[in-house]
Amino acid sequence: MFRVNAGLHSSAQPLGGWEAPDCELRGHYAGGHYLSACALMYASRGDEDLKKNADTVVAELGKCQAALKSGYLSAFPIEFFDRLRERQEVWAPFYTIHKIMAGLLDMYIYCGNEQALDMVQKMAGWAADYTGSLSYEHMQRVLGTEYGGMGEVLSNLYAITGNSYYLEAAQRFDKKAFFDPLAAHRDELKGLHVNTHIPQVIAAARYYELTGECRYRDIAEYFWEEVMSERSYCTGGTSNRESWNTDPGKLSTELGPSSTECCCAYNMMKLTRHLFGWSPDARLMDYYERLVFNHRLGTINPEDGMMMYYLPLASGYWKTFGKPFESFWCCTGTGSEEYAKLTDTIYFHGDDSLFVNLYIDSQLDWPEKGLRFKQETRFPEEQGTTISVSGKSPTQLAVNLRIPYWAKGGSVKVNGTAIPAFSSPSSYLTLTRVWNPGDKIELSLPMGLHMQSMPDDQTIQAAMYGPLVLAGRFEPVAKEMSYGPYGPKSGEQRNVPDITADASKPTGWIEPDPKQSLTFQSVGQSQPLTLVPLYKVIHERYAVYWKVNEKSALMSGHVV
Ligand SMILES: [Zn+2]
Repeated sequence: MFRVNAGLHSSAQPLGGWEAPDCELRGHYAGGHYLSACALMYASRGDEDLKKNADTVVAELGKCQAALKSGYLSAFPIEFFDRLRERQEVWAPFYTIHKIMAGLLDMYIYCGNEQALDMVQKMAGWAADYTGSLSYEHMQRVLGTEYGGMGEVLSNLYAITGNSYYLEAAQRFDKKAFFDPLAAHRDELKGLHVNTHIPQVIAAARYYELTGECRYRDIAEYFWEEVMSERSYCTGGTSNRESWNTDPGKLSTELGPSSTECCCAYNMMKLTRHLFGWSPDARLMDYYERLVFNHRLGTINPEDGMMMYYLPLASGYWKTFGKPFESFWCCTGTGSEEYAKLTDTIYFHGDDSLFVNLYIDSQLDWPEKGLRFKQETRFPEEQGTTISVSGKSPTQLAVNLRIPYWAKGGSVKVNGTAIPAFSSPSSYLTLTRVWNPGDKIELSLPMGLHMQSMPDDQTIQAAMYGPLVLAGRFEPVAKEMSYGPYGPKSGEQRNVPDITADASKPTGWIEPDPKQSLTFQSVGQSQPLTLVPLYKVIHERYAVYWKVNEKSALMSGHVV
């Protein structure tokens, strides 16, 4: 479609779904997310074949851009931008342009593709001309149509080139009606489309990093806090039917087959990384871990790599995955990128400090320090981790280990000797010493059962074990139901029994299955239930939130 749009001959069979010849977002995946995913995978794994594929795509897109002459590059006609300017109906042209620009920029950053940098600068020049020709008020109206991370990618281009022209263009994408209430710490998110707006806050975070303007930091931090504490479910996910439909803290009525969209998790994780870079607070990484283990793990089908759109959180629904050539949703794109950078954020570092944020089997090379850290764990199957140090010479360093919010105590040993101190949940335990090759840290983080209630209805509860959201697992769905549209339809859920629990022991109705790890059985319920981590449920109907009725004193035999 890129070639067709550029007037070049093509004999290719077009892709389907959101890449189809009649879809107004066409090109977002093939010319955008695909490049980002290949570049990130190359950075993670050094996969030369993927790099070669992506280099080929860049070179071919370069021919299309040259044929189009103005710097514009897209798989749809430039006339879409006339419709955008005239405020006629059009899906989201700048959203798609952002994906292509980000893909090209990633190809330059991670794969050193100079042609990609040249191409993205030409695209930026075109975008700057288009936006620069509109009055401020006119541009604000244009921003009423979803535009992805245009502010972010143009800022990143400024960061790389030092050309302030790109930063000026980036800030034309500041939507005043969205930023002003956030700067004043007012939650006016009700009624907004979620995934349209998170990327705008990521852009604000980037502006703060590049300009030092505190207003932007304030916007980003207030927004994160509000979404995390008032608008997120137990998985860390946010959005219902793609939007925030309620006042803050009102979530119990917002459970459906379309809560929650995967792109929102991807973008909130991206925002969280920026905030952590400014101030390394363990709460940020507690939230990040929640998303990694509950909303990212298990939303890609381990059998065939297909991605999900919505992760339904109303009880009795099931997971629906895309089809290889007929979907190409927004979430297919962000999912491809996410799974190409699962190594991201496990570690952060300062000049003389290392933050171990996530417990994931991995290896960190830190060439500037001449050090290598090898983390060995089967987490979350294992309740802890072992980190060994290797390298050239002894180095003074503060190693910060995240003690998660869910930790039920815990302990740490260095070279086999227990350290008498520990840290409270949701903080970092700092081990400052001269680290020698051969040193070993053993961290134990016991998990326990706990319940998370809806903020506005204490009787609707989800069970968790350590960081893991547990799902009641019901009967499998037919294979064709696992692949198809964005998600199940409202009303297609199965009935799920209510739970009866003792108010003094809210997790008393669940006990671990001694025969299977991370598997739990119900106790004393109307029907036996098996609970497993949500990420392990792929083809079955499931329930995350339960209606919990308190056992009366009489029934439980207690004398009050
Ligand atoms: Zn999406």
